[in-house]
Amino acid sequence: MNTKIFLLLTVIVSIKSEYVNYKYHKVYTVTPTTEKEVQALLDLKNSNDFVFWIEGIKVGLENRIDVAAEKQRLFEKYVSDAGIKAELIIEDVQSLIDNQVKRSKTRNSNEYAWDYYQNLDEIYEWMNRTAEAYSSVASIINIGATAEGRPILGMVIDFKKRERPYYSVIEGGLHAREWITPATCTWIIKEFLTSNDRGVRAMAEDVVWYIFPVTNPDGYVYSFTDNRMWRKNRNPAMQTSCAHMNRPDDMSVGVDLNRNFDFLWMTVGASGNPCDITYAGPSAFSEAESLAMANLINGLQERGSLLYYLSFHSYTQLLLIPYSHVRGSDVLEADNYADLFEIGIKGMDKLTARHNTTYRVGTSADILYEVSGSGFDWAKGGAHFPLVFLFELRDTGRFGFLLPPEEIIPTSEETMDGMVEMDRVARSMGYYRGSAHSFTASGFMILLLAAMLLAK
Ligand SMILES: [Zn+2]
Repeated sequence: MNTKIFLLLTVIVSIKSEYVNYKYHKVYTVTPTTEKEVQALLDLKNSNDFVFWIEGIKVGLENRIDVAAEKQRLFEKYVSDAGIKAELIIEDVQSLIDNQVKRSKTRNSNEYAWDYYQNLDEIYEWMNRTAEAYSSVASIINIGATAEGRPILGMVIDFKKRERPYYSVIEGGLHAREWITPATCTWIIKEFLTSNDRGVRAMAEDVVWYIFPVTNPDGYVYSFTDNRMWRKNRNPAMQTSCAHMNRPDDMSVGVDLNRNFDFLWMTVGASGNPCDITYAGPSAFSEAESLAMANLINGLQERGSLLYYLSFHSYTQLLLIPYSHVRGSDVLEADNYADLFEIGIKGMDKLTARHNTTYRVGTSADILYEVSGSGFDWAKGGAHFPLVFLFELRDTGRFGFLLPPEEIIPTSEETMDGMVEMDRVARSMGYYRGSAHSFTASGFMILLLAAMLLAK
């Protein structure tokens, strides 16, 4: 690409981290329509002058690009020269960030509310208060400490105190900037403890739940205090100069936790370079957060049966099924893919019924991009949870990570509806009888139908 662009870039390198102000940053939407446009966008991304909200770039996949005010003309000229259509959709990123954390004045500060994005202290305080208030069924578990010494706290919900129960795990906030996911996880905790809905009650009470709203506490805090767009954890062990990539050195402080799990680690869709946002770490499970999660699950496996592993991310409104590196007919590498697909489709229909939000269902390689070393792939291929899903919550990119706080409750409501329906379908398939089966009759029919359509 144009070397002038590279020269212009070098002025913005900062060594020490400080609050990144997104005032007057613009966001453009682009969808490459040809391989040539894909290449032009890859070049632009590699210039490291602009922040792409979605890591994968491929034909037809809509992306969002954050452009600092002083680089707006440069950006517009580049896309125009390349013949790429770019539409300005956000005028001032910082004003959306400010809006996300604005407290309502009327509410008692002691009570949790889902009308703004709460910081880590607020979430942890609420979890502690809630565990005390429901102490006969709820408790707090601390599965380990982060690089910066913060505890990784989860809420354990156990209504029936059974011997050898079903254990399920919900993991939110693995990626720091995906703020809607801790908010939705706390909502799920509240619903499990208080809802009168029969479906919610069954799901809450027949399983022992381990719910981690903020699986990456250091990153989450950093996304409030320093850089709203932070994704990784904050492990400084691999800190290095990123000047050669025209990035601040701060970028090398941290590992992408959803690339660090020990399942096909570092094979596809992950980076070995600490300066990259998808840096997979020096080895699988090198990170306190992913290792703590694996240790917890290995322990649960010895004490009962694993059932659900639900991973919450944002954004793009997808329900992903393992494994993230497979597409086409290879999706059958997950032995119960047909079941998971049917559960997912029916669940997302129910989700849509609440607020008309539409989701797509499939493997990451098929409907997003290829990934390896993710927590939910490991949950399926390493830990052998039968029912494994990854939600990419709202929206489809209008606001992306900057989802307005008014959308927290609708997002949570529809997600809960979807989960309850998924649970109903899973029960009808016999997953609560502990029968590890690969195909149900209806799942088989769907596959057969898909094969017939493909054969045409
Ligand atoms: Zn994510």
